[in-house]
Amino acid sequence: MMKVDVLTLFPEMMDGVFRSSILGKAQEKDIVSLNAVNFRDYSGNKHSTVDDTPYGGGGGMVLKPDPIFSAVEDLLSQTSAAPRIILMCPQGETFTQQKAEELSAEEHLIFICGHYEGYDERIREHLVTDELSIGDYVLTGGELPAMVVIDSVVRLLPGVLGNETSALTDSFSTGLLEYPHYTRPAEFRGWKVPDILLSGHHANIEIWRREQALKRTLQRRPDLLDKMILSDQDRKVIKRLQQEQQESRS
Ligand code: SAM
Repeated sequence: MMKVDVLTLFPEMMDGVFRSSILGKAQEKDIVSLNAVNFRDYSGNKHSTVDDTPYGGGGGMVLKPDPIFSAVEDLLSQTSAAPRIILMCPQGETFTQQKAEELSAEEHLIFICGHYEGYDERIREHLVTDELSIGDYVLTGGELPAMVVIDSVVRLLPGVLGNETSALTDSFSTGLLEYPHYTRPAEFRGWKVPDILLSGHHANIEIWRREQALKRTLQRRPDLLDKMILSDQDRKVIKRLQQEQQESRS
């Protein structure tokens, strides 16, 4: 079972997300255990203070190193695994599906959620194994980013998703954006489902889906194609799609 601990000053923020939907079911099935730890409990002082003013002056409060080191060390004393200790921070490596796949192979993840101006730099330098950002924007705290990462990691664990919601063809898992989906009715307000999807010819449907995934990626995220190893057939399709694009422009 994967173990996930989240160090936060607002453990109640995790309640609904950890209990609901696929994350809730993954815990019921004992595939993952999700645990929020309030690092204020490790402040070691009678006022439960966890932050202080920055040396050198300036605005904002800085999270002190001692409560966060103590909380992580307490978790480490309870395990024989070597957890990944992940600092949520806008300056970190940008989180991707590849990173989610990498983290899904770990036994134990510890997330540290900041708040206020930031962390004492010694946490970054001497405690963590990874720094992750969920994008080039700044949120008030690390809780939402940690929940984003946890959700995308847990859904990859074996047994969490049924076949009906397989992660294998998801956008980015294949390196491409996913092909379009349709369901009943076959015609809605005059808009028809592509004939191929109603044909029952599985091999042709797979070819169509691959072409649609290539087309969508070419249109929306051509940068992804540069990072992929493409088959000869993929290259032929892309060449044809590019020609069609040029013809429609001229
Ligand atoms: N002063 C910091 C800076 O400029 O890098 C930003 C601090 S932010 C207001 C407070 C906390 O929110 C951060 O310590 C981090 O835990 C979290 N956070 C904010 N934006 C984030 C992002 N894009 N990705 C991950 N964590 C983020």
